[in-house]
Amino acid sequence: MLLTITTNPSIDVVYQTNFFKLGQTNREVSHYQVIGGKGINAGRVASILTGNKENVAAMGFVGRDNSAGIIQDLQEYGVVNKMIQVPGKTRFCYTIIDGKGQKTELNEVGQQISTEEANQLLEQISSLTNLNGVSINGSLAPNLPENFYSQVIRTVREKNPRAKIVLDTSGAALKSVLMGKDLPDYIKPNSEELSELLATDVVEEKNAVLSALMNPIFKNIPNVLVSMGAHGGVAKVGIETPRYYKIKISSQLAVNPEGSGDAMIGGILSALAYGKSNIDVIRAAMAAGMANAVEAKTGFVQKSTFNRFLRSDKDIHVQIIKAVPTPIK
Ligand code: ATP
Repeated sequence: MLLTITTNPSIDVVYQTNFFKLGQTNREVSHYQVIGGKGINAGRVASILTGNKENVAAMGFVGRDNSAGIIQDLQEYGVVNKMIQVPGKTRFCYTIIDGKGQKTELNEVGQQISTEEANQLLEQISSLTNLNGVSINGSLAPNLPENFYSQVIRTVREKNPRAKIVLDTSGAALKSVLMGKDLPDYIKPNSEELSELLATDVVEEKNAVLSALMNPIFKNIPNVLVSMGAHGGVAKVGIETPRYYKIKISSQLAVNPEGSGDAMIGGILSALAYGKSNIDVIRAAMAAGMANAVEAKTGFVQKSTFNRFLRSDKDIHVQIIKAVPTPIK
């Protein structure tokens, strides 16, 4: 069984405009609404890749006033709904894309989660004993303690010591976990999240990312995969004698690259479900990200497209780095 945990999902509204100017009245050309939430997206992709057979469960919180769309989306893709309904509404996140393709985002903070609700989620996690892959996705809902994801990791490990845990978050929530004792097996920052974590501007260039990956903060994380959009990525694998890899991918004409990072998490989970490790997991992550980028729907892949990328060394080439440069201080 695979599990995704989303404490702060969202319903995303995307507006297309010709012009967007701050301080002025702007008009839309069109808009659409999609079910968001990084774990909801990752679970959908993992479910598609493992055959839509209810072997992925989604946990977390949804505001009950407008939870129907999220629940329907889970059902549609064969994801088992274990979301806890809390009072109020699930937050909305707004994206405005102007005629030049420039994006402006405005994200609501999300519903407050009480200590009782947080404990209910931890209890629900401990009731599962057959997990082989778990992802913890996105920002922490308001009011949850900064170390909540460490508590989640500990709770998963108590009953599922063999489960591999993937953490996909950023900012203080990520830092808090990396500074603690309960560490995930995988993290997947993009270069922006990496820069924020290390409080330095890591340019999206493979050698710079590689140097950043040698920072001691990653020492005890077995798998760190930095995604760089169409430029592929860089990975660190192993703890005692880490190996570093450059991942080259074929650049695709993106239809909608939104949610490609979430799709990567879905790809990782699906590979874990099939008992894959290291390089195969990296390849699955990349193939899922690429397969998402060529779709219009956010956080969605066609399994056939995923398989085509996965099996092609021309589309995804993972190459070990022999000479390792000096780390960024
Ligand atoms: P998001 O926050 O939108 O979920 P992200 O910033 O976490 O995404 P990116 O690094 O932008 O993630 O992209 C994730 C992966 O998607 C890349 O590693 C790559 O596999 C794939 N990808 C994205 N855009 C393209 C593209 N134009 N061509 C090929 N692959 C792409």
